[in-house]
Amino acid sequence: MNASAFRCLVTAGPTREWMDPVRFLSNPSSGKMGYALARAARNRGWKVNLVSGPVSLKVPAGVTPSFVETALEMRDECAKLFPSCNMLLMSAAVCDHRPKNMVDQKIKKSRMTESLELESNPDILSELGSQKAEGQVLVGFAAETADCEANAMAKMHEKNLDWIVLNEVGLEEGGFGSDNNSVTLFGKNGSRQSFGSAGKLEIANELLDSIVS
Ligand code: C5P
Repeated sequence: MNASAFRCLVTAGPTREWMDPVRFLSNPSSGKMGYALARAARNRGWKVNLVSGPVSLKVPAGVTPSFVETALEMRDECAKLFPSCNMLLMSAAVCDHRPKNMVDQKIKKSRMTESLELESNPDILSELGSQKAEGQVLVGFAAETADCEANAMAKMHEKNLDWIVLNEVGLEEGGFGSDNNSVTLFGKNGSRQSFGSAGKLEIANELLDSIVS
């Protein structure tokens, strides 16, 4: 493999789904795992595009960033970059839903309803999985709290992925916001490997070693 001709697309962080100019739906993703993956990929001499939701992290030197906020923006940016990438590492925590009506004035407390109407966001990874070309490697990330392995494996098959990284939410160490993580990597060939607890850069390197080997 010619490392400098290898192009990797990484997504990271949460998305924000606005309901008015001062309120949004989101999740606690810090983006640390995705940024560590971008750094580890860059360290291999690969060309790296990083599509990032709002996080407070520094983009590693040599990585080409695109900053987005909403799932729809992330979808458009990924659709643009995906055809020319060899590997997609979809570690972003994309919100599955968005408020149905985004209004451009702050909703007054007195006019706020007690329920919020939502509509589904596109599943970016499923869309890209259905467009996967020969030789492209797709890696998904599953944050699960129950039936973790079964859910992760089901997602790998449903989304046409080559690999899925399971992150069990609620373990003592690791996950959202933490500098450490422990994950299990499942391959569509039936392989299963666990990594950590370790720093996110170390985990990123171990994941890439397994995926390219
Ligand atoms: O949310 P879910 O558990 O299905 O996420 C699994 C994978 O799908 C992750 O890699 C996530 O980035 C991706 N995903 C996506 N678009 C969504 C929801 C999840 O690309 N709307």
